Amino acid sequence: MRALYRDTHMVINLDHVAYNIQQIRRLVGQEVAIGAVLKADAYGHGAVEIAEVALEEGCELLLVATLPEAIELRCAYPKAEILIMGHTPNQHLSVVADRSITQTIFTYEQGLALNAQGQRLGKTIKVHIKYDTGFNRLGFKDTLASLDAIEQIVSMPHLEVVGFFSHLALKDPQTNYDQYHKFLEAIKQLEERSITFRYKHICDSISGVDYPEFHMDMIRPGALIYGLKSYKDDQVQLKQVMTFHTKISYLKQVVKGEGVSYDYLWQAERDSLVATLPFGYGDGYPRNLRGLGRVTIRGIQVPIIGVICMDQCMADVTDIQGVCEGDDVVIYGDGSHHTLDLQTVSQMAGTNKNELVARMTRRVPRVYIKGGQVVKVTDHLLEGGLK
Ligand SMILES: *Cc1c(COP(=O)(O)O)cnc(C)c1O
Repeated sequence: MRALYRDTHMVINLDHVAYNIQQIRRLVGQEVAIGAVLKADAYGHGAVEIAEVALEEGCELLLVATLPEAIELRCAYPKAEILIMGHTPNQHLSVVADRSITQTIFTYEQGLALNAQGQRLGKTIKVHIKYDTGFNRLGFKDTLASLDAIEQIVSMPHLEVVGFFSHLALKDPQTNYDQYHKFLEAIKQLEERSITFRYKHICDSISGVDYPEFHMDMIRPGALIYGLKSYKDDQVQLKQVMTFHTKISYLKQVVKGEGVSYDYLWQAERDSLVATLPFGYGDGYPRNLRGLGRVTIRGIQVPIIGVICMDQCMADVTDIQGVCEGDDVVIYGDGSHHTLDLQTVSQMAGTNKNELVARMTRRVPRVYIKGGQVVKVTDHLLEGGLK
């Protein structure tokens, strides 16, 4: 197994991924497909590793945002159904076709371009058509002309239109229902033209839980898979997948009145014991947590003090009995043993849980747990180099 050359690392619990997908399956039943959302390197958890569990747990599709993300998964899983939910520029649709990737399209011209690629290869290319019910991001606008264009796309001989989908803005229940009904109306109008789709879908994680009546043929959970939505009700119990750890690299006494870190923005109000911790915003930790961030050492929460640097930060450990260099530090925990969970840290940082995990950078190695054991260590920086 690859060595961990840094004390700073994430632990990714694949048993929790499996558990969360089982909870999602319980929520949607056997008839509704699960498209596991693996964009942004599976929200910082590692797309190839999370995809393996998603496939083992019976997720029917793997969903990504971009073509390179799709190619990464295609290389690892030659037979998986992989959908790019985002835009792929027409000049790269040849790659989509070559690699049998399923592409989202939302203009007639994209249909023509992809159909031409199918013709070149003598095969049909699978597509999902995106329909905009109000988000105003991607999708055919909700018009009669759009329905005409969709009808033309459906008739293109080298395309197989397997899906039709939309995305909710999640503003409030009223607008969610308005969007859903616009989507149903478009489906009805297309059915009147004898156009049907294998997969009609509109739910992400939040709407998948809050609006079971919106499940249709498939849901697209991201956050749920990573255990990133906590619920007041217990419709779905989830387990957070990622935790973030390091060790104390250096301990020093600081005399009352001394400053710590850039600009001496923290100054000791008493003689203090200060720990240097080898992580910073270059690892994805929010720099704006200066004055707020806390880590847990020996079961005790202590404040990060002073400016958070790119690679390091300092913590005031004066109150931890027996603290030593090399002690384990929990940066993001699961909330137990006085650790801060991702929900709490993201609130402190004024962001959401998805951003907190997706911003983890490629220099943070990942330790994977499966069956309660460490099964794999990955380090982006060592790929193709040290084995
Ligand atoms: C990212 C994304 C999702 C998943 O969102 P979560 O809130 O993480 O479940 C679903 N659908 C689309 C179109 C997305 O871009």
